[in-house]
Amino acid sequence: MKTLSLISLSLLFWLSTSHANDAPQNGTQLILLGTAGGPATKRNRSQPANAVVVNGDIYILDAGDGVARQLTLAGFSVANVRAVFITHNHSDHMADYGTLLLRSWLTGRRETIHAFGPTPLERITRDYLNYMRWDIDVRVKELGRQPLGDIIIAHDIERHGVIYEDENVKVTVFPVTHGEVKPAFGYRFDTADKSIVFSGDTSANENVVEAAKGVDILVHEVLNATAIEAMTPDNATLRQHLFDIHTNTDEVGEIATRAGVKMLVLSHFAGSGHPLYDRREVWEEAVRKTYSGPLIVGEDLTIIE
Ligand SMILES: [Zn+2]
Ligand SMILES: [Zn+2]
Repeated sequence: MKTLSLISLSLLFWLSTSHANDAPQNGTQLILLGTAGGPATKRNRSQPANAVVVNGDIYILDAGDGVARQLTLAGFSVANVRAVFITHNHSDHMADYGTLLLRSWLTGRRETIHAFGPTPLERITRDYLNYMRWDIDVRVKELGRQPLGDIIIAHDIERHGVIYEDENVKVTVFPVTHGEVKPAFGYRFDTADKSIVFSGDTSANENVVEAAKGVDILVHEVLNATAIEAMTPDNATLRQHLFDIHTNTDEVGEIATRAGVKMLVLSHFAGSGHPLYDRREVWEEAVRKTYSGPLIVGEDLTIIE
């Protein structure tokens, strides 16, 4: 296996090198586009979204608010989005799903974009095309484009296992547990040089351990119980709900240790934006109680290659 290296670059650097990644590169890159957890907006983290880039093709895993903008800030063209995968239909994970498709089309994409997610993704896609019908029709007239709907193929995921495969990547889906959100999925991406598992939003789940056995990278959601207690002083119901549907720091470390992953990447922080608790050293110290391997505490626009 190639040595994994982390390049975590400031926004300022990206602004000055915004085209650094336009040329296709050999090897798989993972980009954390949005690392927030929870539906409220945050100053320090964008809503959940990730990109896996292989041979210039972009595969999006979740499409929270701002996903197209974040991809652009990371130096990639939204026109190169080839497929989109949604873990679950909580709005913070897919609010900009439609916008991503629209921006890709308007940035010049002509080729098909496949989209996969829990039911009712097909209906959501049709509804979005209706919502944007006026703009789409005008662009078709003005620019002689084929309609956006002609290049989108949406799929409701109705089985587990391999759901997508092309010359770059094989994508496997497995079920996870996220309270009343049913179904909710985790994903495994296998490329020529990398295996990457995304937990999705889930309470501690054996399926993640199984899917992540020996993988190069496990991207896992994480909850800091102390932070959540501090953030919900008067709302025991919400607090217990969050504890029930997410994975705490001890559990994340145990899962990564048991799976024997080569690298653990924390993202989707429950406790995002808390001035005392949403800090790299706090997350790291908490997860270190149960995990001693390579660890990245995710930030927006982190690129792992
Ligand atoms: Zn979430
Ligand atoms: Zn969720």
